[in-house]
Amino acid sequence: MNARHGLPRLRPRGLGHEGRVRGAVLELVQGDITDQETDAIVNAANARLAGGGGVDGAIHRAGGPRIMEECRRLGGCPTGEARITTGGELKARHVIHAVGPVYRGGASGEEHLLASAYRNSLRLAAEHGLESVAFPSLSTGAYGYPVQDAAEVALQAIVEFLENERHGLELVRFVLFDRRTMEAFEEAFERVLPRH
Ligand code: ADP
Repeated sequence: MNARHGLPRLRPRGLGHEGRVRGAVLELVQGDITDQETDAIVNAANARLAGGGGVDGAIHRAGGPRIMEECRRLGGCPTGEARITTGGELKARHVIHAVGPVYRGGASGEEHLLASAYRNSLRLAAEHGLESVAFPSLSTGAYGYPVQDAAEVALQAIVEFLENERHGLELVRFVLFDRRTMEAFEEAFERVLPRH
């Protein structure tokens, strides 16, 4: 769990918060996603790709203006989908801008849209031949998705993708900003990973 950069130290599945799903490592760390050296980091973007607060603001601040210039040319991204730009001045070569749903009580397709945002991010990564991707917790900040539920949807979507779709991914890492989010993902990890 100390290895925030490069390849993680491996533990047997079911111990700690690293697991293996087919060939890929899935791990949870607490930290700031803008420091990551993975091939791509994922941004919790809005549908206009217009920048905002939270992790989006942090990524644009750290990555410089080039990322926003590319976002403007993309002209937005529907909820549940994702778009890719370069990483500007970030250590990561790419940013995948994923648009999670605003939470409106849970009966407006939020679960499906959140899972789609994760799945479409991984599809883009695979199409671009990327081997490592770092995710924040999409939708659980300003968009208000309850983090316990969101963590389970996120991990389930990623495990399903890694098991069922063609990809060359070796590492999918969650970089969780605060202790509360980390704990929610740790608990969901115990529920989702043993099933696989
Ligand atoms: P959304 O609008 O999709 O809810 P937010 O950026 O408001 O996105 O929040 C998503 C999550 O990202 C929250 O858990 C927030 O604490 C976290 N976050 C904020 N800054 C960073 C960062 N630099 N690295 C990783 N996670 C971050």
